[in-house]
Amino acid sequence: MTQNEVWTTLKVLTWTKEFLLSKGIVNARLEAEWLLCAVTGLDRVGLYLQYDKPLNESELAEYKSKVARRAKREPLQHILGSQEFYGLEYEVTADVLVPRHDTEVLVSEAFARHPDAATILDIGTGSGCIAISLQKLFTKALITATDISAAALVVARRNAEKHGASIEFLVGSLFAPVAGRSFDLIVSNPPYIPSAEIETLDREVRDYDPRSALDGGKDGLDIYRELIPVAVTYLHSGGWLLVEIGAGQAEDVAQLFRTAGCFSEPCVSRDPAGIDRVVGAYLKEKP
Ligand code: GLN
Repeated sequence: MTQNEVWTTLKVLTWTKEFLLSKGIVNARLEAEWLLCAVTGLDRVGLYLQYDKPLNESELAEYKSKVARRAKREPLQHILGSQEFYGLEYEVTADVLVPRHDTEVLVSEAFARHPDAATILDIGTGSGCIAISLQKLFTKALITATDISAAALVVARRNAEKHGASIEFLVGSLFAPVAGRSFDLIVSNPPYIPSAEIETLDREVRDYDPRSALDGGKDGLDIYRELIPVAVTYLHSGGWLLVEIGAGQAEDVAQLFRTAGCFSEPCVSRDPAGIDRVVGAYLKEKP
């Protein structure tokens, strides 16, 4: 984009589409529109209605800087600062995993399995999207959410405030912040990518999502090995533990539930793409 040309909305969008495509971004035209919406304050229809209008200098400068960031494969959600999840818009920064629609299965399953849960724990809450969605479904439940990252909890707290959700946020690893307590329902989307696979992920994920939210150790199952047996101590009898899993991990994670000894036979739920995404079971009896 050079200075002296007249850059109309249409010309900008056409140029950006080609530029982003050349950088390996598949949804280039749509992303160009979203970036331009963010700069102009218009919605997509608004953009269409003023295709011939030139951008002013400050709009052009801001837009160029956002496009340059995207060209470096920074996630669109970091540039726009938000992502929708389960019908609500969440603030997203580099301190939290970008909420994924696949994770909505965890929320739906939690409500389907134990709609009467009065005390709920979300481990590794990140942006807070799971805990806040649960608060909207379980309107009377007391919800606690933990994360090892204090920086993530700053974002989660802002998201909870924005959506009027009352959630107890505690910093610390796994169950450490809730020692001595027990819950009707425990959910978690832990890091589950095998360490060696991280280098093969999209750059948006590999270079920008927090490593601590992705890396599940050699086979991706490290956190499940810690979390599942210990969860027994933190669940009421009849309480459910539901965890998100990565592709191909269902059987191994189900086996961890069986080995823990006092859970029901685990059930597996799929995401909209048909991939096993959530494994869960309830505690039959406290040992
Ligand atoms: N679902 C994320 C991904 O595939 C990974 C998140 C996680 O490890 N919990 O990129």
